[in-house]
Amino acid sequence: MNGTALIYHKDYLLHDIPFHPERKERLIATLNYFEKTGVLKRVDIITPNIAEEKDILRVHSKNLLEKIKEISLKGRGSIDVDTLLNSHTYKVALLAAGGVILAADLVLRGEYKNSFALIRPPGHHATIEHAMGFCYFNNVAIAVNYLREVCNIKRVCIMDWDAHAANGTMDIFYKTRDVFNISIHQDPSFFYPGTGFIEQSGEGEGKGYTINIPMEEGASNNDYYCLLKEFVIPKIKEFNPEFIIISSGCDSHKDDNISSLCLNEEGYAVMSNLFVTLSEELCQGRLVIALEGGYNLEALVHSNYEIVRSLLGESEYGNKTKGDILNSTYNTLKKLQNIF
Ligand SMILES: [Zn+2]
Repeated sequence: MNGTALIYHKDYLLHDIPFHPERKERLIATLNYFEKTGVLKRVDIITPNIAEEKDILRVHSKNLLEKIKEISLKGRGSIDVDTLLNSHTYKVALLAAGGVILAADLVLRGEYKNSFALIRPPGHHATIEHAMGFCYFNNVAIAVNYLREVCNIKRVCIMDWDAHAANGTMDIFYKTRDVFNISIHQDPSFFYPGTGFIEQSGEGEGKGYTINIPMEEGASNNDYYCLLKEFVIPKIKEFNPEFIIISSGCDSHKDDNISSLCLNEEGYAVMSNLFVTLSEELCQGRLVIALEGGYNLEALVHSNYEIVRSLLGESEYGNKTKGDILNSTYNTLKKLQNIF
């Protein structure tokens, strides 16, 4: 079996909205840094195809698909003030979804140990019916339903550590018990998307299979480590997934001004290492990490670099962090343990 696949397509750069923070330079800078540091030689770059309409429709309404297609094919337009389209956006959004499908497929077929999907636009804010927050189609959710409906995988775990709550992914899987969906993010009381509270924990047979973990501003490596180690990982072990996909936003980095969270690249490395170990323990190492947000180029490329080194088994940071823990983190842990 090969090591780590890096999913990338040069057409990811064609969705290009002037002055928008979710810009093509995010991928260009990451690839340049991978090349400069030699990491690019140790992964295989695999080029995806666009997702087919039927892949999108396993998650989204026909209405959303048609709306994005129509606006994009007109040449330009917008869904909201954050979510703009050019003539390429529809195709590139299909290509981003196709990227995570391919990432999952390569791992499931045993061709690669794990994979990193260096894709854009991101997806985790896209709900069944609505594109929003720089997201058009929910790439990770589309790959999850591909695994479930085409590949007969019964239980999938999604871990989202983007600074913003994964409202789209939550909407899509809120009523199912077959997808264990965890989002750890900045407290949404005064922060986009304004949803993602602990009490939002799933509905019907999905009750208890959605976990939202709001973090206080200033939360750093050890706060994340504490909640993952004491709560999230034991819960994932109980769920016993057959596949793990991570929605990896690097906007929780201390240098990313879009959030007030304070992870650094070491934190991203340790979290990735924990999930590499966990996936080996639970599901034959089946792990895909897919890019979501991250807008400070330096923070993004360093975090992406550490994440890929973790997937390659080269990380020097291990499975532990040190440092202070906020009181609010202990309170959140207690609250989580009471509710779940
Ligand atoms: Zn984000």
